[in-house]
Amino acid sequence: MKIRLASFIHDSIVDGQGIRSVVFTQGCPHNCPGCHNQKSIPFDGGDLVSVEEVIEAILEKDLKKVTFSGGEPFVQAEQLYTIAKRLKEEGYNLWSYTGFTFEALMRHRDPFVAKLLSQLDILIDGRFYMRKKNLEILYRGSTNQRIIDVPASLAAGKCIKSSEFVDPQNLEETEDRTDDIFI
Ligand code: SF4
Repeated sequence: MKIRLASFIHDSIVDGQGIRSVVFTQGCPHNCPGCHNQKSIPFDGGDLVSVEEVIEAILEKDLKKVTFSGGEPFVQAEQLYTIAKRLKEEGYNLWSYTGFTFEALMRHRDPFVAKLLSQLDILIDGRFYMRKKNLEILYRGSTNQRIIDVPASLAAGKCIKSSEFVDPQNLEETEDRTDDIFI
């Protein structure tokens, strides 16, 4: 199985807690004005890489922490689920970014979206909004984005924000979600 990647790095300290390997997927449907990673938007860009190759490179580096970013990771949910499941067997801590909201992902028709969610520790959700841009907040670009405790949220059937990674903005009430994109 192949996954389309924009890039793949190790030793990141800005894509989640600790020192992490980061898998940047290629292709994003959100087209946020002010996107920080516009090269990752075209679906025909980047490189096709075997999922096994990605798993091996992560295990070899052995950081025990991985983040999926993009692009839009959940467009390639089956490939990332395959990677995530293998890493979870090795005790990895897994975070993912998404331009979709948690609520939109919960309604998704692709069964691999739910499977991928089931492997994650933290999800940072929501599109990037210039009008809500804030350089001071933890791990996010705009204040509508939430740091979500995925196991607690799946158990509760609703979004539960992380109590571990807290800043004042992550404690704000949920934004209006009328611009959810259904996929
Ligand atoms: S979701 Fe992320 S990668 Fe996609 S357009 Fe928005 S900022 Fe860019």
